[in-house]
Amino acid sequence: MFRLFELFRGAGQELYLVGGAVRDHLRGVALEDLPDLDFATNAPPGESARILREAGLPVFTVGSRFGTVGTILGGGGRRREVQVTTFRGEVYVNGSRKPRVTFGKDLQTDLARRDFSINAMAMTADRRLVDPYGGRLDLERGILRTVGDPRTIFREDPLRTLRAARFISTLGVRPEPEVVEVVRELAAEILSVSRERWLLEMNRLLAGSGVEAALGFLADTGLLAYLLPEAQAMVEFQASQGRYHHKALWPHTVAVVGQAPPRVAVRWAALLHDAGKVTTRSVDDAGEVHFLGHETAGAVLVDDVARRFRFDRALWHRVRTLVLMHQRPALYDGAWTDAAVRRLIRDAGEVLADLLDLSRADVTSHRPGVREAVLARLAELQARAAELIRIEGEGPLLPKGLGREIMARLGIEAGPAVGRVKDRLEQAVLDGHLPRNGPIEAYTEYLDRLAGRGPDEGRADR
Ligand code: ATP
Ligand code: MG
Repeated sequence: MFRLFELFRGAGQELYLVGGAVRDHLRGVALEDLPDLDFATNAPPGESARILREAGLPVFTVGSRFGTVGTILGGGGRRREVQVTTFRGEVYVNGSRKPRVTFGKDLQTDLARRDFSINAMAMTADRRLVDPYGGRLDLERGILRTVGDPRTIFREDPLRTLRAARFISTLGVRPEPEVVEVVRELAAEILSVSRERWLLEMNRLLAGSGVEAALGFLADTGLLAYLLPEAQAMVEFQASQGRYHHKALWPHTVAVVGQAPPRVAVRWAALLHDAGKVTTRSVDDAGEVHFLGHETAGAVLVDDVARRFRFDRALWHRVRTLVLMHQRPALYDGAWTDAAVRRLIRDAGEVLADLLDLSRADVTSHRPGVREAVLARLAELQARAAELIRIEGEGPLLPKGLGREIMARLGIEAGPAVGRVKDRLEQAVLDGHLPRNGPIEAYTEYLDRLAGRGPDEGRADR
């Protein structure tokens, strides 16, 4: 099946497909469609590198992984990342955070070192399954079970507690009661794991189809309180949400995450969109509950989370904008002018599609008709935005170089005054009086016309 098997056999070395690839293949993914492959071998890393190189394959060392050599397989017009790792052996946890790993002598020892039974299977060149811990049966029954004593497994590498949650989400497996118990006991250990590893697992967890169960697991075991105290605060938030919400804050949040499309930024935003409600709740004289400014409070919480989890700039900006704007599309009522729709397009920028998806996911009402009505309004808003974008494009409102032209014409220096003139011109574009990103003369003529109206020089259009 894979050329790699031939190469290693030719060199007199053992090679097995292991881990996630075997698991996902048993779940029905064709071997050809697996995006990345992990192999285990008895050959030391230097020898694996030599075998690959002599076959003309690229070789790179995988820094983060002990004893791992990486390569790329091309077959079938597809590019696949492949890692070949020398069998691992005993692990010594000598009180330090980084366990010391040694090379192992055989496949059995290597599999014994893995976290869950479903991840501890291997496949030979002739497609024979090696499954010492009953991983196949656990997979069929949808059970998440550790390889050996859970206390030892989770203590050795506390990231596994979060990996458990990730597999609950991505594979739809249920954790054994003992797994839940031990993770609850050791939850605080997650603090000793690097935040980069938190992020990798959380991103995958959030994108999974079993994300609701996984969030339930995080809350149940106490992991949530360490990873995301701002989400834990929602779990503990008991107050009623006013008459438009029938669900408590956390169940609502979990439902929104589950309904959101499985893209990382939208799912993060769904998780945090209402987190600002915890600190902004108020009750007015009529007994109505309000959460004034909860979007802004939520954006501040996004910043905390983004720093903690080391979001890259793009993800940070996306999640922040989504949380900040999450109420906007829901305000659409059909009476919006084109200017109002344009303003939404401008403010949302590249997150517009995500924002509309988030708004749809945010509808969790079960009252008859409510859901359909909101979704119909959002569909109309989306159609109007799409039509405006089709006609006018969605680039910048004003052309490049306009600032310089304004300074020259009006004889003003760079500074806030230029910004004010530009704001006014943007307003005119939004209102449909000027083209979007048109020729510079269109804007300067417009300014001349405004100036010609009187001493008020342009303030007229406000
Ligand atoms: P995916 O298919 O999503 O990549 P995966 O199971 O392959 O999932 P990886 O992180 O790529 O996850 O790890 C590959 C294999 O290495 C796992 O299937 C598991 O056998 C083993 N493994 C990875 N991380 C750990 C860990 N922290 N503890 C024990 N075994 C691990
Ligand atoms: Mg993998």
